[in-house]
Amino acid sequence: MNAYLKRTPASRRIWEEARKNLPAGSSRTSVFYPPYPSYASGALGDRITDVDGNERIDYCFNFTSLILGHRHPAVMKAVTDQLERGAAFGAPTELELSHADKIRKRMPSAENVRFTVTGTEACMLAIRLARAYTDRTKIAKFEGGYHGSSDATSVSVHPDLNEIAGQDFAPLPETAGLSPEVVANTVVLPFNDSDAVYSIIRRNREKLACIIVEPVMRGIPPAPGFLQSIRELASDSHIVLIFDEVITGFRISPGGAQEKYHVRPDLTTMGKVIGGGFPIGAVGGSEDIMSLTAFENIEFPSCKGPKVPHAGTFNAHPISLAAGIATLKELNDANRDRLDKAGQSMRVGLKKALSEKRINAQVTGVGSLFDLHFAEHEITDYRTSLTADHVLKRCLDLDLLNRGVFLPPIHFSCTSAATTEDDINRTLENVSATLNLLLPLIKERRPRLLSR
Ligand code: PMP
Repeated sequence: MNAYLKRTPASRRIWEEARKNLPAGSSRTSVFYPPYPSYASGALGDRITDVDGNERIDYCFNFTSLILGHRHPAVMKAVTDQLERGAAFGAPTELELSHADKIRKRMPSAENVRFTVTGTEACMLAIRLARAYTDRTKIAKFEGGYHGSSDATSVSVHPDLNEIAGQDFAPLPETAGLSPEVVANTVVLPFNDSDAVYSIIRRNREKLACIIVEPVMRGIPPAPGFLQSIRELASDSHIVLIFDEVITGFRISPGGAQEKYHVRPDLTTMGKVIGGGFPIGAVGGSEDIMSLTAFENIEFPSCKGPKVPHAGTFNAHPISLAAGIATLKELNDANRDRLDKAGQSMRVGLKKALSEKRINAQVTGVGSLFDLHFAEHEITDYRTSLTADHVLKRCLDLDLLNRGVFLPPIHFSCTSAATTEDDINRTLENVSATLNLLLPLIKERRPRLLSR
């Protein structure tokens, strides 16, 4: 901790000042970590620099949104070219068609697409479409699953152990200020447990509009056949299946997790990667559901609007579309290969470092995603992820920050196409040094993690 305080006096000054006007020092709950976060001043490739001049190898990439790394030349050019033409207009642009086309070619289930400004809004729209399409109210989501910060999905995202111990999957509010109906309208499911999902869905089938799932939940891969079993259940009960691919879309494979795991959802929510580092979200899906957002009468549209209107001053923002189109163009096989190999090297390297120190911790992830859990047993869902020692993880993250490695706090990490082999090797050397330092603390807090 002292080393961090010494290295970050400017961040500390800004944080103390910012707290007076911005509760918690910034507008994003997700970027805070104790004692205070490093305030960013810039970034390039796979490096991020803070206001104290500390340069770190980045494994956050603004929470997986910069798949090509920071300031990729093709993305910079697309954005500056678009800025020359104008930032945004009260009129649609051809960019929208072009981007939707690119998405559809890679992800055939996205027969029609609508762009939003964030992944949160994409999930809101998808859920509303599912309700309108089925004329049902309830939604099913997975315990621990995150779908943005809207009311509808702010249920059982991070319930704590005391709340869930000994109970089945009762829905729990994630935040104060939710109306009780939101919680009552949510059915909570356990990830990777097909039998339990089957019985919960069958019990609620007549009221369920949709099942929304992150196909790789918080970096935890689905068990073989799990996503297929949800697909079958949803089809049997005429429930809309929504894949939230805000993180996995175009990252896990060229066509997203649905391509990798061979499951076709009815609707897909996207974000992050498709905006090339700029704000974006999108819903793609079957034409019959998506057409609920189209005008029923185009000759007199004001008389009869769409069944599900979808407006927004910044929807399909031209700058984000230009950056997203450039990103998908650059996301060729070579870049994708680099990105995935880097993720694989991190997972393998972390496991090796842990086993060299005889620490039985778990490494999760797939493709370019990776995470480390100080837990003895395999992590397969939210409840098993809670068995990890979070203090140890916090200490690891903080020591790595001091050594020039930025793993996002309370989130899994990712590589980008800009992640270099040298930086991976340097990271793994630092991880090894940090684990040495942590050994006495592991012995004290969690001796079971150390094999004799
Ligand atoms: N869904 C998932 C799976 C996400 O990870 C996120 C953001 N981390 C969202 C939705 C919300 O996206 P946004 O932050 O753009 O609103």
